[in-house]
Amino acid sequence: HPTSARRPTDAITVESVNTTYSEEYITAQFQNRGADVVVQEGDRFLIKPTIKPFEFRTKRKVPKTGLMMVGWGGNNGTTLTATIVANKHNISWHNKSTVQQPNYIGSLLRASTIRLGLDADGKDIYAPLSDLLPMVHPNDLVLGGWDISGARIDEAMTRAAVLEWDLQRQVAPYLKEYGAPLPSIYYPDYIAANQSERADNVLPGSDKQVHLEQIRKDIRDFKAKNELDQVIVFWTANTERYSDILPGVNDTADNILGAIKGSHEEVAPSTVFAVASILEGAPFINGAPQNTFVPGVMELAERHGSFIGGDDLKSGQTKLKSVLAEFLVNAGIKPLSIASYNHLGNNDGWNLSSDRQFRSKEISKSSVVDDMVAANHLLYKTKEELEAANGGPLPAGKDGKAAKGEHPDHIVVIKYVPAVGDSKRAIDEYYSEILGGGRSTINIFNECEDSLLATPLILDLAILAELLTRINYKEVGKDADFKPLYPVLSLLSYMLKAPLVKPGTDVVNSLSRQRNALETFLKACIGLEGSSDLLLETRIW
Ligand code: NAD
Repeated sequence: HPTSARRPTDAITVESVNTTYSEEYITAQFQNRGADVVVQEGDRFLIKPTIKPFEFRTKRKVPKTGLMMVGWGGNNGTTLTATIVANKHNISWHNKSTVQQPNYIGSLLRASTIRLGLDADGKDIYAPLSDLLPMVHPNDLVLGGWDISGARIDEAMTRAAVLEWDLQRQVAPYLKEYGAPLPSIYYPDYIAANQSERADNVLPGSDKQVHLEQIRKDIRDFKAKNELDQVIVFWTANTERYSDILPGVNDTADNILGAIKGSHEEVAPSTVFAVASILEGAPFINGAPQNTFVPGVMELAERHGSFIGGDDLKSGQTKLKSVLAEFLVNAGIKPLSIASYNHLGNNDGWNLSSDRQFRSKEISKSSVVDDMVAANHLLYKTKEELEAANGGPLPAGKDGKAAKGEHPDHIVVIKYVPAVGDSKRAIDEYYSEILGGGRSTINIFNECEDSLLATPLILDLAILAELLTRINYKEVGKDADFKPLYPVLSLLSYMLKAPLVKPGTDVVNSLSRQRNALETFLKACIGLEGSSDLLLETRIW
């Protein structure tokens, strides 16, 4: 089965009293099983299992969907476009050893499988994840977008220098037909000064309200011109600096709308795009690390019930870290330090060679082990435990910041090395404590091929975001009607370095837990239990 193969949209049928199919919907009953825990004196836990009945309803018709990329002319945007063209037109190409067929390798949806159960012979049966519910096929996405660089998409692909020449040569005529990206919003202060020379395709003036309205119009026009049912807007443009969170400016929905009207300087281009998308009801995903989703944008998304997801694609080093750190901590081994170095030579790397943009990346790369550390108080003492041992409050750290619980030292370094181009090198040292005060060191050298890893993630994010807009739920006995999911799509976390979650809820960074959550949710929507590795039938007589 090639990963681009078209599969029937009803590839999986569940025969159960819990699942009903109508022409329009798949409806499923689901029991959400959890546990309420009371921590009692003497380090004891009292646990009460809970069951809450839910109903999920998924629209079966796959809408005609557009993907508008901000930063379309960049390495990711052009690699994604060329990949879809190659798959759609079945273009194969010669590299130095073989003839390569197009595919969607690296896509969780199209190139990974889930275990459905056993066949009559007791053999495991697996299906592509994309079979679970009707989803958009990547070949069917209608592509468009904006870039501050006016290079045509075929020229931009050549500039990116990511793909084999024999592939570039064949897809170029198709990419040329896309023309140049739409002019975009450029506030020079937000990205590195070294990007200014490519900014020749920018919206005039400095009136942010005018810019907002233009982007909204672009989304509407694209939708109308291509007769689309849905548009996903995706930020794959340069990493911006962080915006300061200022009371009265970006702290509430009304304030951010007011700040755009008043063209306040602390409103980033990405925030204008997010606000435009929210107001147009187009799901918006942030593939870069900056804080596009300032509190006011989060509130605006809630107010409009418009879907958002982010931040920052989790493609190489961090993806591996969210596996390795979990492996170590779950094995009962105690990482003492994680030191991560990167060097890369593409335009992203050039932009990140500037301090404030690097800082955005550093923040998003740094929090990835937090939840694993917090889950194991046997290895890492909590702040409360440290204080109890200390007999009082802990002194501030050397950096002057308030003391925290025990945590591995964690540093991230990124350097620009033009020679390696898009082929990012990531070097990581995991230095851990083992039995009896011993030490263990793991060194990883990872060549990331950045845009080839990022492209399938963008596809997965866009396709899942679209699907999640078609799933409604009802808490049985509580809700009279079906309603949409909460606007912050934390189910997208698997593909994201610093997952955005519903305020007040915990971030899950562990890759296996993120995949399990997604798998369990999609299965719940067709009335199946979550994936269990109990395999009881193999353990009993
Ligand atoms: P790139 O520099 O090749 O492309 C970014 C594009 O955005 C450029 O064409 C640039 O002209 C354009 N741009 C800048 N500001 C813009 C604006 N305001 N409006 C419209 N266009 C604008 O970078 P890339 O390698 O494609 O990566 C894109 C983003 O994805 C970066 O922020 C990067 O940090 C992030 N990211 C990439 C990966 C990966 O593996 N490739 C992983 C995580 C995050």
